Amino acid sequence: MMSKPKICSRCALPETFPGIRFDEEGVCNFCLEYKETAGGLAKKAEYQHKFEALIKENRGRGTYDALMCYSGGKDSTHTLAILKEKYGLGVLAVTVDNGFISEQATKNIRTVVENLAVDHIFFKPRFDVLARIFRHCASHDIYSRKSLERASSICTSCMAIVKYSTLRLALEKDIPMIVYGWSPGQSPVTSSIIKNNPRIVKMMQKSLYGPMYRIIGAEISPYFLEDKHFTSAYRFPYYVHPLAFLGYDEKAVYNNISRFGWTPPGDTDVNSTNCLLNSFANMVHKGRLGFHAYAYELSNLIRGGYLDRPAALARLERPENPQIISIVKEKLGIKP
Ligand SMILES: [Zn+2]
Repeated sequence: MMSKPKICSRCALPETFPGIRFDEEGVCNFCLEYKETAGGLAKKAEYQHKFEALIKENRGRGTYDALMCYSGGKDSTHTLAILKEKYGLGVLAVTVDNGFISEQATKNIRTVVENLAVDHIFFKPRFDVLARIFRHCASHDIYSRKSLERASSICTSCMAIVKYSTLRLALEKDIPMIVYGWSPGQSPVTSSIIKNNPRIVKMMQKSLYGPMYRIIGAEISPYFLEDKHFTSAYRFPYYVHPLAFLGYDEKAVYNNISRFGWTPPGDTDVNSTNCLLNSFANMVHKGRLGFHAYAYELSNLIRGGYLDRPAALARLERPENPQIISIVKEKLGIKP
């Protein structure tokens, strides 16, 4: 048995996390540098106000007011309900099916969109293309070190396809905002409303499209923007992550979404309520980099007061379900 790595006494970051240092009390530099957001509530109110102004300005501009990136997980379900019930938006919910949405999550998606009365698209990219990317990422890290501190290569690849295929759809349908259900651990308040700048989008797309293109070539092009999308014929939507400014409490989230028939899937792991691939991606990441792909996010939640440390540690220490791992390996064609 390897000895357990030392873990920050305040958050959940281990000594194996890149760039970490500890003081005499075992507190990490990320915790020491964390700015207690004294103006936290005021900032949240400011962003909520911004969001409401954005709605006022754009409501009714196109067929839909918002495109919701809908994974079927608890946070995106909660966010979808807020858009529809609290703000009365015309929403197009879009689920990108990576081939690993759990059976219960699929049921949840259908039930929730029916009960909330929103239009929904299941977009399923070619599985052979996705499988080639995921297989490659199972043995190589293809993105920057910085991105690997926050997510595994497999999840980053999948999210890139979600992000750019939905952006493409929003541009083509002239939808003024794209909404994500990021928890405050994934998106700080100050980056919860982003006005997209085509030049920056182009640059960011390149950093994700490039590594994937090198693996499989032009077959990934349908999931990204083309040159024509960067012309003035298209209006770039805003990105909004409402949970960052509307408040976040896991218990309240579960209570709210059970009203629409959302049932916790028993067939995924503790860090994802919708995706089986997530377990495999986490296992690969931990094995290769020595820290959990969710350590950064959960530590942010601890610092923000959204999650207590023992609960976060329990989540990070729980081993992956071997049954899920073997289902994923088999579907990807990876030998056991
Ligand atoms: Zn810490």
